[in-house]
Amino acid sequence: MSNESESTYDVVVIGGGIQGAGVAQAAQAAGYSTLILEKTDWAAGTSSKSSKLIHGGLRYLQSGELSLVQEGLQERALLLKNAPELVHSNWFYLPIYTHSQHHSWQIYSGLTLYWMLSGCQDGAKFEVVPKTQWNELAGLETKNLQKVYRYHDAQTDDAKLTAAVVQSAVSLGAKISCPANFINAEKTEDGYRVCYENSQETEGNHSTAHQSISCRFLVNAGGPWINQIVSTISPPPRSIDIDLVQGTHLILDKKISDQCFYLESPADGRAVFVLPWYDKTLLGTTETLFEGNPEDAAPTEQERQYLLDVLASYFPDYTGKVCGEMAGLRVLPSGRQKHYQRSREVRLITDQPSQPHYVGVYGGKLTGYRATAEKVVKVIESTLGSSENWIDTKTLPLILPTA
Ligand SMILES: Cc1cc2nc3c(=O)[nH]c(=O)nc-3n(C[C@H](O)[C@H](O)[C@H](O)COP(=O)(O)OP(=O)(O)OC[C@H]3O[C@@H](n4cnc5c(N)ncnc54)[C@H](O)[C@@H]3O)c2cc1C
Repeated sequence: MSNESESTYDVVVIGGGIQGAGVAQAAQAAGYSTLILEKTDWAAGTSSKSSKLIHGGLRYLQSGELSLVQEGLQERALLLKNAPELVHSNWFYLPIYTHSQHHSWQIYSGLTLYWMLSGCQDGAKFEVVPKTQWNELAGLETKNLQKVYRYHDAQTDDAKLTAAVVQSAVSLGAKISCPANFINAEKTEDGYRVCYENSQETEGNHSTAHQSISCRFLVNAGGPWINQIVSTISPPPRSIDIDLVQGTHLILDKKISDQCFYLESPADGRAVFVLPWYDKTLLGTTETLFEGNPEDAAPTEQERQYLLDVLASYFPDYTGKVCGEMAGLRVLPSGRQKHYQRSREVRLITDQPSQPHYVGVYGGKLTGYRATAEKVVKVIESTLGSSENWIDTKTLPLILPTA
């Protein structure tokens, strides 16, 4: 799909995952002529391999990331309103056993805080599931079970959500090019000269065409490829050291429940979700340090076993079989802390402290893509100035993509 016709843009975005799609939508909505380049397909990277939750992230309360949780909950409310075909609310069941890491009062406090951070939304209340209803919980293990809470969060189809945001950007006037592989960029006096390659398949013949364009502002939303992209830019803009942390999900052929389960791995106490996924079950996720080319991310045998062990300990009678799997890569700042203790806040790194012409988008959540894009547009505005004809992305509906 390619419909670019100009050779100069205000903004060029590299990467058609949720972050790049969000930035393209927000930049075009802010009045900047925008082109987005994606080398494989929309959401081909991490954005089709997430847990598909639109949430504040109950577990981030533990690491004190209150502003991240609050932002996620605000974005959840917006997405439930603006994208009803793509995002739906669901019950999440959280069982507490005698051996669980957290006591009932801690979960109660966490859920209360989660509800308060959501602005005490009516639809976000939580409750205790009476013991008389435990036998209706899809075969959940009840031995040593002490209490079950349930609370509201939301689910989506991450790839469709990304495609819907791209579609919204296009409807505002953004140009798209996919497949378009960004090759390199060179700093000019007032922006960047960008080279990329389009590939086409016509009647069995494969052809590639080199394109060269200029932009006043370059956005690197390359996800796990972000620092590979940095290394092709001349001079290389500032960057941060990152770790890529793989998260695997398994797809099981029988749906366990229409509702979601938030479980604690008996092996290491990490959170693992059991989620309805169309007529199947999605089970995940893991955190495994990944080294190598992001293209090569793939579930390991150890990850499969870890997830199946969690499933077997909570749903011992479940008979479904693994029918699919996927591995996505989180971009986390390098550090000594354990992966799950590292901040999930997005980091925006510019090529220079003032009047930047480049920004790299490091990390962040699927849920917070719109809020992140708003922050990126503020950075762009600081150099390019603001337009009077901007549209607030909070008001834009997202429609189920047609293809
Ligand atoms: C296992 C896992 C579970 C998660 N679960 C959740 C969740 O439930 N809820 C939530 O809110 N968040 C979740 N996240 C976080 C969320 O999925 C990611 O933050 C988000 O998808 C990252 O999007 P991105 O656009 O930055 O990266 P990506 O989706 O990886 O997009 C980068 C894109 O850049 C393209 N690209 C790379 N190089 C080039 C090039 N040279 N030229 C052109 N294009 C290029 C790639 O093809 C790719 O499409 C999860 C993350 C992981 C890993």
